[in-house]
Amino acid sequence: MSKLVEQLKADFRMVEGLKACINCGTCTAICPAAGVSDYDPRVVVDTVQEYNEESLISLLKSDTIWRCGECLSCKTRCPRDNVPGYVIQALRSLSIDTGYFMESEQGRKQLALKRTIGEHILQYGYCVYVDEVNTEMYPEQGPVWDWLQKNKEQVLERVGTSYGKEQSGALRKIPEESMSNLKKIFDETGATERFEKIEEYAKQYARQEGIGFDSGKQCEYFKKMYEE
Ligand code: SF4
Ligand code: SF4
Repeated sequence: MSKLVEQLKADFRMVEGLKACINCGTCTAICPAAGVSDYDPRVVVDTVQEYNEESLISLLKSDTIWRCGECLSCKTRCPRDNVPGYVIQALRSLSIDTGYFMESEQGRKQLALKRTIGEHILQYGYCVYVDEVNTEMYPEQGPVWDWLQKNKEQVLERVGTSYGKEQSGALRKIPEESMSNLKKIFDETGATERFEKIEEYAKQYARQEGIGFDSGKQCEYFKKMYEE
C-alpha cells in the first residue's frame, strides 16, 4: 500500500466514514450537492475504496472534493453506515497537506475561505460576523446594509441583540476563555497547520503566476479567488 493511501486510511474520519461501500447510490440520491452539480458521492467513495494511488491523486487534484456541502444527509441514509461527507473531509485535509489542492480551481479558492470564514471564527468566534460583512465583498446586501453598518450599534440594540456585549443572546462577544479554547482546538486538530499550508501554497502559486500576494482581503490573489 502506498504511503499516500496509508496517510488517508490513518485519518479517523476514514475509519468512521468508510466501512464497505456496496455502490447502492443512496448517498447520491439524497445529496443536495449532487442535485445541483456533477458531484456524485457514490463515485467518490467507490474510487477511494479501490485504494489505488493514481486514482487517489486524481481525486485530490480535482474540483470534485470541494463540491460537498458537509450537510451530512448521507450519514443518515447509508445502508452500510458509511459517511461520504467524512470521507470528503479526509480527502480535503490530505489534498491541503500534499499541496494537490492548488491544482484545481475550487482548491485554489481555499485561501479565500481561510481568510474569511476561517479567520472570522478565530477572531470573533463566528464564521460570519456583522463587522466583516460589507458591500464591497457582499454587493448583494445593497445600500440599506451600508446604512445599517454605519448605525449598527443603535440598530442591533433596538432589535434586541447582544452585539459586542458579554452576555447571552445573538451576536454576543465570545468570552476570552472560549476564544482561547477555540484556538487550542485548531492547534490540536491540525487546522492551524493546514491554514499555514494554504497560505504557503497560495503564495507560491501567486508568485509563479505573477499575481500580487499579501495578507488580508485586499491582496490581488485573494480578490481574484474570491471574485472568480
Ligand atoms: S449510500 Fe453508502 S453503500 Fe450506498 S453508495 Fe453511498 S456510501 Fe456506498
Ligand atoms: S455531506 Fe456532502 S456528500 Fe453527504 S449528502 Fe451532504 S453534500 Fe452530499
